[in-house]
Amino acid sequence: MMKLILLGPPGAGKGTQSQRLVQQFGIPQLSTGDMLRVAVAAGSPVGLQAKTVMDRGELVSDAIVVGIVADRILQQDASRGFILDGFPRTVGQAEALDTMLAERSLGLDAVIELKVDEAALIDRMAKRVADTLARGETVRKDDNPLSFKTRLEAYRVQTAPLSAYYAGRGLLRTVDGMKPVDEVTGDVLALLGEPADR
Ligand code: AMP
Repeated sequence: MMKLILLGPPGAGKGTQSQRLVQQFGIPQLSTGDMLRVAVAAGSPVGLQAKTVMDRGELVSDAIVVGIVADRILQQDASRGFILDGFPRTVGQAEALDTMLAERSLGLDAVIELKVDEAALIDRMAKRVADTLARGETVRKDDNPLSFKTRLEAYRVQTAPLSAYYAGRGLLRTVDGMKPVDEVTGDVLALLGEPADR
């Protein structure tokens, strides 16, 4: 049973590293951003509420995302653990998660923070857009300079305080997210006590 949170600003590599951890541990990646995008595409009530806020790069309400995560972690595939990618993003969400887990006598194993330079994030966003277009796929609506700036600001103001929140609980582990992708994965696995010779 491995329950992890990946913390870091937009473009830090949370999604990429989550997928590596999915392969390593065979537990699902729970990305609230992905779940919200599915809801938006489906035109569900949650999706309709979330769409404009997401397009602008602001955070969806705690009530909506906490509800989504509460349902998701009860599903069968999450019974052996999960990797939370993009949740929690506010102290309120972190507290709600603590309550959810405590009700089931569960706790987190680690919160892994990917540290990156802000200047690099803008370049990564531009690269993500170019790669997506090259694959002939649709670019995320919030991957534009204005929304991205808002997303960075939301991270700084609302999400960055979670580092202290989890450090205070002895759960925070920090990784240099500026290294090449494979090295970051190696560092993450090392701090989780996994052998490096994968
Ligand atoms: P992401 O794919 O993680 O970058 O999330 C994309 C967008 O979905 C964010 O900019 C928010 O608008 C929304 N979102 C995703 N996760 C959360 C969350 N935990 N709390 C609030 N909004 C979220």
